[in-house]
Amino acid sequence: MYTTQQFSLHTHTIGFDGRNSAAEMVRQAKDMGWHSLGISNHFIVHPAIKSSRMYKYAAAGGYANIYSESFDEAINKFLPHYNELRDLRDSTHFNLYIGMEVDFFNDPLWRRGFDRAIKILKPDYVIGSAHFVWHDNNLCNSHDIKNMDQSTRNLVLEKYWKNVQGAAQRGLFNWLAHLDLMKKVGLGREDMWQDIERETVSIIASSGSAIEINTGLYKPNLYEPYPSERILNMVSRTNIPVLLSDDAHSVNQLGRHFDEASELLEIYFIKNILTAHGAVNRR
Ligand SMILES: [Zn+2]
Ligand SMILES: [Zn+2]
Repeated sequence: MYTTQQFSLHTHTIGFDGRNSAAEMVRQAKDMGWHSLGISNHFIVHPAIKSSRMYKYAAAGGYANIYSESFDEAINKFLPHYNELRDLRDSTHFNLYIGMEVDFFNDPLWRRGFDRAIKILKPDYVIGSAHFVWHDNNLCNSHDIKNMDQSTRNLVLEKYWKNVQGAAQRGLFNWLAHLDLMKKVGLGREDMWQDIERETVSIIASSGSAIEINTGLYKPNLYEPYPSERILNMVSRTNIPVLLSDDAHSVNQLGRHFDEASELLEIYFIKNILTAHGAVNRR
């Protein structure tokens, strides 16, 4: 029997796209008897981000602050945020880890900016993700991809998986977030995607990367985490390290569906399970 994980390192707070302050998140974690918490707000930097289709929705929804056109812009947002988190860690005597959820772009200029940002900001850990695919001179998110015609959609979905593979190969991240993210809009469910999923899992394994089981999806019509059981079955044949992430955007989402996700670890016989300390110290 596994004991259900007593921490989360994938969370978001107010000022980015979360709904509670870091202090409120820590208080809730303590109330739940947890020993650790990590805050990992979005670090999304791309020169074309503000001209993407999704940006106006982000602005209208009040969370445009998670997107930056330049690394300087993102660094200037994160410096005061990290100072606040470090003060909170000192004043609460709690294992508060300071992280970021980074959108990976397979581009040397992006890489140079990212390396510079890490040197300046010194996060405890970085989560790698791919919310966007660069296609036809546009940054496309899952909704944009869903609206494409089928052959374009398949092409872009393939690019998505190549981005995930690139993120694993670069070895920049403590672990990779929500592997099959595009299923949130119903994409990539068909059997034809198994080959690229298998290829991706094998690249993750050989590059020594880790993954999360992200419990942020579980919806009545799609009651499962990222990644799917199809992928977890592939993961179970490797020794890829795994941890649970709630991707909490508010205090009431901390630890959501961790019991169900723990059952999956058991069912798929996944044995290489990361502790909070182990996950933070992987990079
Ligand atoms: Zn994410
Ligand atoms: Zn997230």
